[in-house]
Amino acid sequence: MPVSSPETEWIWFNGRMVPWESATVHVMTYALHMGAAVFEGIRCYDTPRGPAIFRLDAHLLRLADSARMYRMPMPYDPGQLAAACHQVVRENRVRSAYLRPLAFLGRGPLGTNPLGKPVEVIVAALNWGTYLGTGALEEGVDVGVSSWQRLAPNTMPTMAKAAGNYLSSQLMSIEAHRHGYAEAIALDSSGLLSEGPGENLFLVRNGVLFTPPTAAAVLPGITRDTVITLARELGLEVREQTAPREALYVADELFFTGTAAEVTPIRSVDGVPVGSGGRGPVTAELQRLFFGLFDGRTEDRWGWLDYVSEAPASGAAAPPDATDPELAAV
Ligand code: PMP
Repeated sequence: MPVSSPETEWIWFNGRMVPWESATVHVMTYALHMGAAVFEGIRCYDTPRGPAIFRLDAHLLRLADSARMYRMPMPYDPGQLAAACHQVVRENRVRSAYLRPLAFLGRGPLGTNPLGKPVEVIVAALNWGTYLGTGALEEGVDVGVSSWQRLAPNTMPTMAKAAGNYLSSQLMSIEAHRHGYAEAIALDSSGLLSEGPGENLFLVRNGVLFTPPTAAAVLPGITRDTVITLARELGLEVREQTAPREALYVADELFFTGTAAEVTPIRSVDGVPVGSGGRGPVTAELQRLFFGLFDGRTEDRWGWLDYVSEAPASGAAAPPDATDPELAAV
């Protein structure tokens, strides 16, 4: 759920810092018509040592992987994009933010062959709070199993974080909200548990943590990987394995993970209370470790926090050029 206004002042656009209102594209942009865009969602946290971008390298690697699957040549390397992420935090003077790098195909003939079209890149910083509403992290959310299944194997790559995949997520969200749920859980094309529209799914049963494998049409989530690592730290057994829908109704605990959703407990599915109907002890412990990374209670032994320094990193875009005709209007 965005806080009052998600807007910040500057967006990094093809290597330059552009005012928010001027960061626009033409209506004939290929990506608008064909969904040809790959993107990331990354959180920057306000830590005691200053703003820190969480698992930036892993996100930029996934972005590169998504682009590679669609044969989209990235005009900027991960080092330049990392500098851009730092720059949007620094120049927007935000301490915490949701960062949105997006690579998309620009102008060009509207045929289905995307090859040869120009690849444009932006990095925006948005002001975002808790994704699934106030109280979600403590009380949990009510969800429903979607009548929409996730993409079948060999239709579209679910390992790619591509704009087109979010049409499936939108159908799930529309249905969930129509039924009064905060979020949906989807099954994959074989009817086994998959994920939420923008979250991975975890189940706890008899002290063991389960999550659907990548082959169950899930995005390989970076928060998912973080939680698996933290759970193993705790000595918990973690299994990436397929599970049937009914596992939801007998789980002791359920929770979502995602950059936006962080670690959000699920308190009911299809009107059936999960466990005792609130946040369970394993979820609470994993939340404590996860959020502890950002307030210093959990030692970052993995180098996951990328601190944003006051000084510009090498490779940062030049300051906006006031003589640029695109900026003259603002
Ligand atoms: N699945 C989908 C479909 C998503 O959009 C997201 C959010 N990026 C996730 C899972 C969680 O991934 P991450 O933890 O990397 O944000």
